[in-house]
Amino acid sequence: MIRYILFDLDDTLYPTNSGMMHEISERMSDYMVEHIVIPRDDVERQRKDFWARYGTTLRGMYIEHHIDPHPFLDFVHAVNVEGYLKPDARLAAMLARLPQTKSIFTNAPGDYARRVIRALGVENFFDQIFDIHFIEYASKPNASAYDCVVAALPVRADECLLVDDIARNLVPAKKLGMTTVWLNGTEERYGTDGEESVDFKLASIYDLGRLVRQQSIVLSS
Ligand SMILES: [Mg+2]
Repeated sequence: MIRYILFDLDDTLYPTNSGMMHEISERMSDYMVEHIVIPRDDVERQRKDFWARYGTTLRGMYIEHHIDPHPFLDFVHAVNVEGYLKPDARLAAMLARLPQTKSIFTNAPGDYARRVIRALGVENFFDQIFDIHFIEYASKPNASAYDCVVAALPVRADECLLVDDIARNLVPAKKLGMTTVWLNGTEERYGTDGEESVDFKLASIYDLGRLVRQQSIVLSS
């Protein structure tokens, strides 16, 4: 029985083509050039390397360059969220029909996450925001991030569903017994790493409600 749903934030609650993550990604590169003094023409390579070895750019810079995450996170997320995202009545309607407790599990900071869910008009549906500070900068897909979250949940991991647009972020969740949903299975963006841990693929977040209702019927019968 699925009693609890964890939602990734970026490119999950709103579509990839909003363009917001593109700006955030550019701001990460700018920060690396301006504050960590990485040559502009080496930023792309370093970010790919950090992504592969540590999970995120932040995690790589935290471990290898010992950066203070706070100014980095503030700079990177200082985007005009309301310029990119509008209230999403369809998303709100889908969330309203799901009786499960719902929370956010994101590699972004909580203040930014709150701006996102407010801009989408869905802030009242989420119980908690498990953010990058909560998981002590051990970004998804590091296993310790999931351990932090599971320890704080009022349910068992196998009563929990995680939906994320990056397949490899589902691997530790599956190991803990969660039901896993890969949104927008877009291999061109992040590859298919982790696909073996995917229980369900969805083309649209709006389809999650139907999937959860079907699974709840299957699992409880
Ligand atoms: Mg995402």
